[in-house]
Amino acid sequence: MPVQPPVQPPVQPPVQPPVHLVATGGTIASTGFPGARRASRDGRTLLADAGVTDDVEVTDVETAGSYAMGWDDLRRLHAAVTAALDAGAEGVVVTHGTDTMEESAYGLDLLLEDRRPVVLTGAQRTADEPGADGSANLRAALDVAADPEVRGDGVLLCFDGEVFAARGVTKRHTLAAGAFGGSVVHRVVDGRVRRVSHPVRRPALPLVAADPPRVDVVAAHHGADGALLRAAVGAGARGVVLAALGIGNAAPDVIAAVGEAVADGVTVLLASRVAEGPVSARYATGGAALVEAGAQPVGEMTPWQARMLLGLALAAEPEDPRALLAEHLT
Ligand code: ASP
Repeated sequence: MPVQPPVQPPVQPPVQPPVHLVATGGTIASTGFPGARRASRDGRTLLADAGVTDDVEVTDVETAGSYAMGWDDLRRLHAAVTAALDAGAEGVVVTHGTDTMEESAYGLDLLLEDRRPVVLTGAQRTADEPGADGSANLRAALDVAADPEVRGDGVLLCFDGEVFAARGVTKRHTLAAGAFGGSVVHRVVDGRVRRVSHPVRRPALPLVAADPPRVDVVAAHHGADGALLRAAVGAGARGVVLAALGIGNAAPDVIAAVGEAVADGVTVLLASRVAEGPVSARYATGGAALVEAGAQPVGEMTPWQARMLLGLALAAEPEDPRALLAEHLT
């Protein structure tokens, strides 16, 4: 009996809603291994490297290291993401350096109300380095951004197969491919996006044209006094985040400097230099005294994300950002 060839199902093109890539640089866009790496590749090149053949619109905001970014870069990034969404993208992927990705992700999350996915990604190894991780991260981020199930999750950060909520995500390793930790919302397994949890969404902050005022992070440490906190206020800071010790403590002179800053109208947030856990006014001469002096505990937030929140809240409400902050400091 003649052998019948197996019936082949018709080839289906992948269902790919229009996703927009906003490129900003970082290691994912860098070459130069094994010497000094430099960001040099644009978004189109990143897509070609990753073998992405789907139609993806690209905006190159810049091709820079994220360690040099500031408010102006966040504003331009926000404008590019908003323009892509206004033009009808179903999702947006942002390629970004890992060093300040947690700040840009949270900043965008605070400013965007749109339910469509906005997903940041990057790389720990350059494209010309053995074990380069950029293309895999980019492909996973595109899968996440194209997935309708991801809508309403806010801004996300996709790295090494894990997808984190913007709030709370932090770079935890300088070298490893699994560079980030935080609250995992999805995992990308063999190109499939699998939900793990539902992030809590909070109200967006108003975007204002004015730059935020100066906001500094000052760290407490063994033997620290209040000199750096006073210097920050002297340099014009209208907001200071104290990266305090442990559950939110500091030495007496730091507490005195907090009191002086608050008396000058400076908003002081109380965060911890410890990687995980909340701050709490637990010790009479530590956290309780800091709160007494006017510092506002951030709950569970890194000093870097607290600074982002405080800057954007002060830009919107320079005189008294407390009402805006309250919705986020829990
Ligand atoms: N190490 C960084 C990166 O991953 C450099 C930067 O933040 O741009 O891209």
